[in-house]
Amino acid sequence: MKVTMLGTGTTINKRAGASLHVQTDRSIIFDIGPRSAWNMELAGIERNAADAIFISHGHADHYSDILLFFFDAVTSGRDESLDIYCPPGLGKPLGAIKSFPIIDKAEFTSSIREITNKKITLGSTDITAKEVVHDPAIHSNAYRIEHEGKSIVYSGDSIKCKELIEISKGADLVIFEAAHVKPHPKHMTPQEAGEAAQEAGAKKLVLTHLYPDSDEADIVSMAKKKFSGDIIKAEDLMEIEI
Ligand SMILES: [Zn+2]
Ligand SMILES: [Zn+2]
Repeated sequence: MKVTMLGTGTTINKRAGASLHVQTDRSIIFDIGPRSAWNMELAGIERNAADAIFISHGHADHYSDILLFFFDAVTSGRDESLDIYCPPGLGKPLGAIKSFPIIDKAEFTSSIREITNKKITLGSTDITAKEVVHDPAIHSNAYRIEHEGKSIVYSGDSIKCKELIEISKGADLVIFEAAHVKPHPKHMTPQEAGEAAQEAGAKKLVLTHLYPDSDEADIVSMAKKKFSGDIIKAEDLMEIEI
């Protein structure tokens, strides 16, 4: 599997908002935050070849570019179907995308499905959605991607919780948010991300979703105190082969 980090930041800062691309026998996007559609262009990812977009939760720093993605798909003549997956409660607001001018004339079919605590199969790729603890007002999914014996877990936004550790068990690569360096009720610190990766028995940890305080700190050293495997500080357009 090949992972391309499309957005390793948050809302509006130096890094693009949350997004990554995973290439298996399918082309799959996880979250599609601000400026990630442009980074697909820079990374050479063919947007109209993407089979599905999985959104972790309903905070705009994780999906704001979906409107642009659809507009681009229609105006560039996409003809393949597109499947959107999201946690419960987000399907209806996302559905409004299809009523926007130009997008309402799309010639490709698209579906928007709410999923959680469920495994789906696309080709020979399994994707499991599991509800994690982030913001009590909404549902949030972490996703596990499995293909040809390898596994990747993307936390979306999550605190260090048993659900995140469960879905991450034995993963070859975990891509965990480490949003802030100080403890936060909705996010992990680099140390907490390291602890979660260690308790899950993951092999490699990528730290992402970096707010400026995390971006400016030596977060790899912080996570290293808790995790004995390889640790990478994510950067926009970084590629990782698993
Ligand atoms: Zn969030
Ligand atoms: Zn977020």
